[in-house]
Amino acid sequence: MIETLTETEVAALDTGKCPDCGSERLLEGPHGGMKVNIMCSGCGAKFNVVPGLAGSFGKERIGRPDAPSPNVKLTGSAQLNTLPKG
Ligand SMILES: [Zn+2]
Repeated sequence: MIETLTETEVAALDTGKCPDCGSERLLEGPHGGMKVNIMCSGCGAKFNVVPGLAGSFGKERIGRPDAPSPNVKLTGSAQLNTLPKG
């Protein structure tokens, strides 16, 4: 889901830092038009930015690190008593 960034988040990206965890290890991903996908190697947050352009123009959040995983983990610890008693 694409979200707009706050001023604080834009400022963090402009200084090359992840707005979420403060990491400076932002990995460059696929380019789309004038935008570049970047992903924080620290927390996994994903953003779109326009390289070399400071400010909020073109910047948006495209992924959150705490997004729920589609794969539900099954513990396998449940005991089903389906056998008839007797
Ligand atoms: Zn981060």
